[in-house]
Amino acid sequence: MRQKTFRSNEYKDPAKLEQLCWDAVEFIDVIYDHFNINIKYRNDQLIKSACPVHGGDNSVACNFYPSGDHVVHWKCRTHSCEDHFGKNMIGFIRGCISRSKYEWEHKGDKEATFAEAVDFLLEITGQKFSDIKEKDNSILEMSRFNTMVWTMFGDSEDGPISSITREFYREHTKIPAQYYLDRGYSYEVLNKYDVGFCDKEGKQMYNRCIVPIYNQDMTSIVGFSGRSIFGQCEKCKFYHDPEDRCKFFPKWRHSKGFQKEKWLYNYWYAKDHVKDSGAAILVESPGNVWRLEEAGIHNSVAIFGTALNQSQKDLLDSLGAMSLIILMDNDDAGESAAAKIIHACSNQYRIYKPTINKNDIGDMTQEDIRNLILPYVLEAKEYYK
Ligand SMILES: [Zn+2]
Ligand SMILES: [Zn+2]
Repeated sequence: MRQKTFRSNEYKDPAKLEQLCWDAVEFIDVIYDHFNINIKYRNDQLIKSACPVHGGDNSVACNFYPSGDHVVHWKCRTHSCEDHFGKNMIGFIRGCISRSKYEWEHKGDKEATFAEAVDFLLEITGQKFSDIKEKDNSILEMSRFNTMVWTMFGDSEDGPISSITREFYREHTKIPAQYYLDRGYSYEVLNKYDVGFCDKEGKQMYNRCIVPIYNQDMTSIVGFSGRSIFGQCEKCKFYHDPEDRCKFFPKWRHSKGFQKEKWLYNYWYAKDHVKDSGAAILVESPGNVWRLEEAGIHNSVAIFGTALNQSQKDLLDSLGAMSLIILMDNDDAGESAAAKIIHACSNQYRIYKPTINKNDIGDMTQEDIRNLILPYVLEAKEYYK
């Protein structure tokens, strides 16, 4: 009890609390990923999803306003969960932790404390409460794109950069990432996909392999995904440096402002192959794409997880494929993802769902991949003619 009183005193400064919420907005993707919240719709002012606090199957019940009306706030349109936990971002996090950690369902159930929510946001944003500073507004106004570039390459003296090209990125990054070479990916494929490593301490992508995501014609980078170079910690289940104390360090992190639900990984290379063959292969993550590529199969795109969002489906549809080969990971999440994709796409596409006997494509040999996948690709091609 004493500790709790002490901590809530520590977290009293309202200006700092408000700034913490603004800081955390930059990490909103990390937060949504952490609580497994699937974004259904998003623009700069509004994010819609199912309510992560009361659960429920209305996929747009929860409105989160990352830049709205002076403070970051949220609203649960079916159960008004914000009335119980608080309308600001700290209330949102309290609700999310209450549900995910304590299985909160009703008033009276165990719930997360205010201090717990603040601790979470400090961890996410990587700062101490005493160090929170009100930021200069001009920085906030800098485009999200510049913010991304600055986080990656930091203290650049050249001033804001209006676009980041492949050349610029490659000049500033160690390619290929040793971590993926050690996992058996070829030099050629990692080099082709510009998979690098961030060794700059203090940067958002420190201790991660960097996977750039290009726009459709590969003229600029729209975001980065960073994969921790560490294994999973048995105690806390995160992927932090085993030499450090347990801390929030998810397996994947996307660069600030990158809206993963709007892009398909490898679209830039795969598009012509998809058009030629009439088939697209859907996988979960970049590593799957590289494995297929190594096996000589060039028409795969990754959806960055287990949900094919509407914008991603629009992109896919624009390729004009007639067949979809679905290769989600061989686990429960992959199974349910495949079921949803089939439901959303079976009117439009001929669907193939090969059964893989390993955890995912990444664990298969090139020969096994060719034996498993090529018959489907050929059949789809016949159908296309
Ligand atoms: Zn709710
Ligand atoms: Zn740990």
